[in-house]
Amino acid sequence: MNILKKQSFLGSQRSETPLQIIIMGPQGSGKGTQAEMLARELGIRHVCTGDLLREMAQKDAKIKEAIDRGELLPPEIVIPLVRKNLMECRKGFVLDGAPRNTEQAQMLGIHIDHVIYLDIPDKKVIERLSSRLQCMECRAIYGKDMPPKVQGKCDKCGSELRHRDDDNPETIRKRLKVFHEETEKVMKYYERKRLLRKVDASGKPEEVFERILKAIKPPARL
Ligand SMILES: [Zn+2]
Repeated sequence: MNILKKQSFLGSQRSETPLQIIIMGPQGSGKGTQAEMLARELGIRHVCTGDLLREMAQKDAKIKEAIDRGELLPPEIVIPLVRKNLMECRKGFVLDGAPRNTEQAQMLGIHIDHVIYLDIPDKKVIERLSSRLQCMECRAIYGKDMPPKVQGKCDKCGSELRHRDDDNPETIRKRLKVFHEETEKVMKYYERKRLLRKVDASGKPEEVFERILKAIKPPARL
């Protein structure tokens, strides 16, 4: 791997050698927003596993049923789909939503440069999610760090914003427990490969983004 070329991205804003990044973090860590910002900054693609699965579900009734029931799809379905999409990203990617467990991580079999983990205390997630509002039309999400311009109205489409039923502290706590159980193992897996970059995900999106760029910046040449 050519370090010189990789080094240029923060200066020229565009990477010449494709950077292949995984981003992980609990719901409410701002993962989707950071993945978008990173993709734009580096000129790479944001591959969102959830979107790929929803797209696939439109053509496959069985998968749609499983997703609607909230089931975790087997790695034999998820990983080949993700792999196929990553292989098409010649300029690099930031992958979001996979791998969910060690089995998926092992199956992925694609070179990864960085695994960014958005670190945020559970207490903060609960605070963020329970104050979160969603647009009933376009599903856009607003919170304390990203309030809508007009109170109660979506910036994008002007529709009504509402609190989501599954965003109550009890349900959030349960989801976080499952998330930590799964993710801890995946994190250890990438830590052993020296790919894990833990980033403090508290504060404004721009602040978090600065920390991410710092975490993936190649060491300065002497
Ligand atoms: Zn909207």
